[in-house]
Amino acid sequence: MRAARLTAWRAPLEIASVPDPEPPAGGVVLRVLACGVCRSDWHAWIGADPVPLPFTLGHEYSGEVVAVGTGVTRWKPGDRVVAPFILACGRCPSCAAGEQTTCADQAVPGFTLPGAYAEFVAVPFADANLTALPEALDPALAAAFGCRVTTAWHALTGRAGLRPGEWLAVFGCGGIGLAAAMLGRAMGARVVVIDVVEEKLRHALAHGAEAAVDASRGQAHEAVREITGGGAHVAIEALGIPATAAAALKSLRKLGRMVQVGMPSGDHVTQALPWDAVYSGQLAIYGTRGMPAWRYPALFDFLTASRLDLSPLIARRIGLSGASAELAAFDGPAAPGVAVITDFAA
Ligand SMILES: [Zn+2]
Ligand SMILES: [Zn+2]
Repeated sequence: MRAARLTAWRAPLEIASVPDPEPPAGGVVLRVLACGVCRSDWHAWIGADPVPLPFTLGHEYSGEVVAVGTGVTRWKPGDRVVAPFILACGRCPSCAAGEQTTCADQAVPGFTLPGAYAEFVAVPFADANLTALPEALDPALAAAFGCRVTTAWHALTGRAGLRPGEWLAVFGCGGIGLAAAMLGRAMGARVVVIDVVEEKLRHALAHGAEAAVDASRGQAHEAVREITGGGAHVAIEALGIPATAAAALKSLRKLGRMVQVGMPSGDHVTQALPWDAVYSGQLAIYGTRGMPAWRYPALFDFLTASRLDLSPLIARRIGLSGASAELAAFDGPAAPGVAVITDFAA
């Protein structure tokens, strides 16, 4: 099969012919219908979240089952599915408690196993993780339900407990930030978005945000506090850099909740937080990563009931050979919306 492989940090991916995967026991092989190019892939691409080389990235995908391993009971060839990027084992105490994102035996295609920048991908723990793709859902958009949409949904509903009427401040309008803004608005929250790229702010304003702050113009948290009449109830940090984490905390009103969604790297890992804001505001800080697969039905029901159309998330449909340019684009402020690989022959 064709696969786009990382062979050296920051190098263009090599389009290689590699053996087709075999289904593991308890797992399946998917023909990949679509695979998103996500900022977390960029962390691997630059070597900040190292993977063994050569390696196939891609953790956010939709696919069609083509082969089934021993012990799989819920899936058969032809089924179209989506999976969370964290494939939980389904058997351990964390999984039994419903906290699959903390599973100690988890597998993550694109990080711990070959990923979906390829024609086929092997997916272990199929019964515990795969979810049928709703027929109306475009496979390219469904790919974003592997990471960005579900991560945003879990941050808002599973962690911060966002309520209608509350102010939600979204720092960073990449894929997760835009998804959080759209979902937050559909949940009845009032949304202010913060970024340094005007085009991204305009895009978010067109899709659910009612106010926008250009952080390149100065103290973003002060602007948010003014717009929200004293501070946001919930802030989402959706980039993973020190400045936005600090600004997100300082943008909150008393008893506000901040969710760290962006993956910290570099200086961020040892960053000092504005603890005075945490103390005096009596704030709560949540970390979050992914979403347990059992929450898919509630998300799909919510999208149906709210008639929220998430398709504005998808900006570009690209070929496999286009992934390298998308990864490199994460070096700087990227354009609005996300890129999804939909043509694996190109
Ligand atoms: Zn991702
Ligand atoms: Zn587990």
